[in-house]
Amino acid sequence: MSPDACLFCRIVDGDIPSDRVAESERSIAFRDINPAAPVHVLVVPKRHEPNLEALAASSTEDLADVFSLVSRVAELEGVTDAHRLLVNTGAEAGQTIFHAHIHLLAGARFTEGRL
Ligand code: 5GP
Ligand code: ZN
Repeated sequence: MSPDACLFCRIVDGDIPSDRVAESERSIAFRDINPAAPVHVLVVPKRHEPNLEALAASSTEDLADVFSLVSRVAELEGVTDAHRLLVNTGAEAGQTIFHAHIHLLAGARFTEGRL
């Protein structure tokens, strides 16, 4: 998919509205439109890569920045002590948006070990 047609690129650019929680130089964080937990934030590098491995391969700075923003969002949401990070890579694993992102989930008891 070209970045022009990518939903998360359009959210990064502000063409599509989102409920933003935080932003850094290289990443943004906004609430998932269909939350799976009371806190469900997507942390997204601004630069388009199709998944987290591709991001890691192309820029360790972008990779470090996205994880720094995850930590900041956990602090802002008051869930530093109890949260779950989730990364879906590939359609068969549940990835639906092919722009790298990390799900930060909290506020629920994840007792079954999976969503
Ligand atoms: P994936 O399944 O690719 O790991 O995660 C994509 C996530 O993006 C899903 O949890 C889905 O609810 C969320 N999502 C899809 N479209 C939108 C949108 O337009 N705005 C926001 N905020 N989240 C979206
Ligand atoms: Zn994109």
